[in-house]
Amino acid sequence: QPFDRRDGVIWFDGKFTPWADANVHVLTHGLHYASAVFEGERAYGGVIFKMREHNQRLIESARMLGFEIPYSVEEIDRACVETLARQGFDDAYVRPIAWRGSEMMGVAAQQNAIHLAVAVWQWPSYFDPAERLKGIRVDLAEWRRPDPRTAPSKAKATGLYMICTLSKHAAERKGYADALMLDWRGQVAECTGANVFFVKDGVIHTPTPDCFLDGITRRTVIGLARKRGIEVVERAIMPEELAGFDECFICGTAAEVTPVSEIAQWRFTPGEVTRTLMDDYAAEVRAHAKAAAAA
Ligand code: PMP
Repeated sequence: QPFDRRDGVIWFDGKFTPWADANVHVLTHGLHYASAVFEGERAYGGVIFKMREHNQRLIESARMLGFEIPYSVEEIDRACVETLARQGFDDAYVRPIAWRGSEMMGVAAQQNAIHLAVAVWQWPSYFDPAERLKGIRVDLAEWRRPDPRTAPSKAKATGLYMICTLSKHAAERKGYADALMLDWRGQVAECTGANVFFVKDGVIHTPTPDCFLDGITRRTVIGLARKRGIEVVERAIMPEELAGFDECFICGTAAEVTPVSEIAQWRFTPGEVTRTLMDDYAAEVRAHAKAAAAA
């Protein structure tokens, strides 16, 4: 079913709109000039995991693009919760998006209204479930994450996803599941929709998120690892170092914790640290849902 022709409702500027009618005009600033920011959240057992952090990040991403979402974080939370309830799913993906409207057409858009919509759908597994267990195959992207002086590189802004789509398409053409992007300096950055972690001698190494998205799942996984007494080192990682790591995994709201078996010429064997964190993350999101239901 294409995404513009589904059943249900979408929260659109404060009202529930039939799914197929949740349209914007072709002369929308967000479409022409990428003045849009979004979030990706997951509900487990009817409860959205880390909802407040996601919706706060949405507000901050908008500010990085120079606009203010005309709703408080509490109102955005409520929109997400109510849309999830209206859609009637227990486990689902939640997509808020904010964008500049159509009052002015041109690069400048000071007078444009800011719109917000929230859509909820079922998105069971981001990667092929069979491949996901063995570890996915990832290519090294040719495109790089931009210098923070070139773009607001820490915002979850739609325009930055141009780099991700180009990289993901190139990887999929070669039979890979995803692509790992380096940053403008040549350091390991992130995958097209997830952060990356490596393991060597029981220690986790992950790039410092100074020019790419500091994932909410990333922070959760670092917390879970430290709770287990596993050391986590955030530092600059060069691609040549990939030869020396034993395990590799990626994580994100949609991807959850996904083992990686290959990145270009480098090989990894999903091992104990990866399995532990896959299980701990799955337990954490379910425990969060249970605790919220009991409260
Ligand atoms: N990097 C990119 C490019 C992403 O799209 C995502 C998914 N939002 C992530 C990292 C992981 O972020 P999070 O854990 O907050 O979902």
